[in-house]
Amino acid sequence: MAQEDVFKKIVSHCKEYGFVFPSSDIYDGLGAVYDYGQNGVELKNNIKQYWWQSMVLLHENIVGIDAAIFMHPTTWKASGHVDAFNDPLIDNRDSKKRYRADVLIEDQLAKYDEKIDKEVQKAAKRFGDSFDEAQFRATNARVLETAAKRDALHERFAKALNDVNLEELRQIILDEEIVCPISGTRNWTEVRQFNLMFSTEVGSTADGASKIYLRPETAQGIFVNYLNVQKTGRMKLPFGIAQIGKAFRNEIVARQFIFRMREFEQMEMQFFVKPGTELDWFPQWKKTRMAWHQALGFGAENYRFHDHDKLAHYANAATDIEFKMPFGFKEVEGIHSRTNFDLSQHAKYSGKKVEYFDPETNESFTPYVIETSIGVDRMFLSVMCHSYEEQQLENGETRVVLHLPAALAPVKLAVLPLVKKDGLPEKAQEIINDLRFHFNCKYEEKDSIGKRYRRQDAIGTPFCVTVDHDTLQDNMVTLRYRDTMEQRRVPISELRSLIEDQVTITSLLKKLI
Ligand code: ATP
Repeated sequence: MAQEDVFKKIVSHCKEYGFVFPSSDIYDGLGAVYDYGQNGVELKNNIKQYWWQSMVLLHENIVGIDAAIFMHPTTWKASGHVDAFNDPLIDNRDSKKRYRADVLIEDQLAKYDEKIDKEVQKAAKRFGDSFDEAQFRATNARVLETAAKRDALHERFAKALNDVNLEELRQIILDEEIVCPISGTRNWTEVRQFNLMFSTEVGSTADGASKIYLRPETAQGIFVNYLNVQKTGRMKLPFGIAQIGKAFRNEIVARQFIFRMREFEQMEMQFFVKPGTELDWFPQWKKTRMAWHQALGFGAENYRFHDHDKLAHYANAATDIEFKMPFGFKEVEGIHSRTNFDLSQHAKYSGKKVEYFDPETNESFTPYVIETSIGVDRMFLSVMCHSYEEQQLENGETRVVLHLPAALAPVKLAVLPLVKKDGLPEKAQEIINDLRFHFNCKYEEKDSIGKRYRRQDAIGTPFCVTVDHDTLQDNMVTLRYRDTMEQRRVPISELRSLIEDQVTITSLLKKLI
């Protein structure tokens, strides 16, 4: 099945099984805003817990905070967001659709790559086993010609971005003959800068109102609390502050479901270190964060680092952790060495001293920062994409199964009475009453056992038990495993020990140490 179709299926599966709904669905939704349903919220909470505990529980020198979404407006002046948090946008006059100029050009670059890949695939078919792909890529005239065009475009594009040259971005779109996918025309407007921050007003009257922003990242809530936490927590360098919370960006192009949203959630940790040690910490955090992702068991080949060529002026190292989504490798997390930029800016704009006094050397200085920043929703999407499978069974049937890591699954155990009578529902309820304090259990009695198993497979429940007439005599149940569909008879008294160790967040955390 084409990857595009797989992605469409995942999106509709998310809706059908109560994971993700379009926001305000009865009014036909709101662009790039989504709600999490009864199963989605459990999965999302488990992802957040996994992250939070890996930071705050496993590191003695990391503490958490929960800062407000609204912040003093000067925060965003100091951080640079008021002046520089912009995307270049362009409109097509015929379709009246708005695009990000840089995304149109990136798509064009991807088209050159696709063209090269097609040539390679064609040649691989033609030459069969004797095909040497590396040699073909290095020597074939058509491939070389396309690669040269791509490289020239890449260079021109990077320069235009670096120089913030909006006219040049437009000229590239014209020269490359990029058309609007809706109208098919090249009737483009000028390129304009568009600030991504949402603003609103505080104050009781319009006159007295003052403009404030919905935070576009959670990080600034940490920076402005650096002194509070350091002093009240008597924190010694190096130490970190972690936070999970909503962020808002007025994204011009809302695409790819929950990958790019206007209201989303971030999990950020700023790690404060002595100046001069940041480039020792940077690779350590890369390693720690990659290990966190890989402990989920999705396979190392589905992740890669993408080091930034172009660094923000205040950063001295930056990388993304990318995950292989059905639409290609995409950024899920950013790791940045941000120097002392943010703390220094807040010191400058607030007039306060934002420093660290080192009792060992009797010196004061502004700490440097390594930040790890991951989107909860993108993480959710990567878990969904990797877990979804349409499986062909030996008996000719198909089933949709979500191979969620058991620790992240919304429901850990479904308890199913074989029939709705003869005391079986009561027995099933008894089992749940006992186990619900330890992990999330669900009772289900409607439809045949086969249908009930399928429903649980579709939401990723790792274990089901069936209560039958024999259970009333021998206190044994049939335990069924989601992935293998293996079934075995086990005593009710052993259920907790058989399941608990595999479904807790602790089971994941133990893989990290
Ligand atoms: P992109 O280049 O994809 O716009 P970014 O580099 O601007 O992302 P950061 O500012 O580094 O992203 O934010 C850190 C993380 O927050 C990202 O890795 C991503 O997981 C998440 N994130 C950022 N923007 C969005 C969004 N609009 N919707 C969902 N998640 C987002």
